[in-house]
Amino acid sequence: MAAAKAGFYAMCVPESLGGAGLGMLAYYACWEELFRTCGPANWLMLYAISHWAFGPSRVLEAVTPRAGDEILEPMMAGEKSMCFGLSEPGAGSDAARLQTRAVIDGAGWRISGRKIWTTNSPVADYCIIFARTDSTDDPQAGTAQQSGISAFLVPTDAPGFHVERIIRMFGSIGGDEAELRLEDISVQPWQLVGTLHQGFQTALHGVSIGRIYNAARAVGYGRWALGA
Ligand SMILES: Cc1cc2nc3c(=O)[nH]c(=O)nc-3n(C[C@H](O)[C@H](O)[C@H](O)COP(=O)(O)OP(=O)(O)OC[C@H]3O[C@@H](n4cnc5c(N)ncnc54)[C@H](O)[C@@H]3O)c2cc1C
Repeated sequence: MAAAKAGFYAMCVPESLGGAGLGMLAYYACWEELFRTCGPANWLMLYAISHWAFGPSRVLEAVTPRAGDEILEPMMAGEKSMCFGLSEPGAGSDAARLQTRAVIDGAGWRISGRKIWTTNSPVADYCIIFARTDSTDDPQAGTAQQSGISAFLVPTDAPGFHVERIIRMFGSIGGDEAELRLEDISVQPWQLVGTLHQGFQTALHGVSIGRIYNAARAVGYGRWALGA
């Protein structure tokens, strides 16, 4: 919140969301410098600028106006955070194999499945859940694996959202990653992120920013280690 007030937190978030729009080269440079300066001990620096998985990013450009009204202001102020529920026990590198399913229920859907490695999920306020929405009775569904996936914005206090287990990581203070159990979570159309059945594109937007972040992190830690 202090970083947001000082103008750092959202400096690389697109201007369309209220950020300073400095872009991905600045994003890389800032994270590399943070990891080089702080090393593994200073966990607070993770919250200095908006992280790809749990802070605002261009992924949120795809939320509906109603969802935007609810989440954008507190997300941009660093008061609320989210998590990115893509990976599953059976779907890692090949994320399009995910098995979490959103089944049509009236005007909305019901989501059930499992997620793993979901960063920030133990404390997040919202989760973007990626789930299969293709079904044989839906003529709009695609046949390719990637085209039957949709993204939904879900509050983490929704009935059926369970943090099953916190995963402790070597060299990391506390536990940011967790395994999630999703049981019949009810979602409505305003919670859809991006286009129905095309949520894998939204996933790739997030993952692509994550690649830049992880490259910066690796180089920054490497430079910290050389210094130490
Ligand atoms: C600290 C941390 C935080 C994370 N945060 C998130 C998050 O917030 N949200 C989220 O959704 N996910 C997150 N992840 C999950 C991450 O995206 C996955 O770990 C990653 O996609 C790899 O999947 P996997 O662990 O299942 O490994 P696997 O896919 O099982 O891969 C294991 C090994 O096999 C190799 N391999 C895989 N497929 C092939 C192939 N076809 N041919 C040859 N080699 C292959 C890989 O290169 C790797 O070396 C996080 C992971 C970590 C470790």
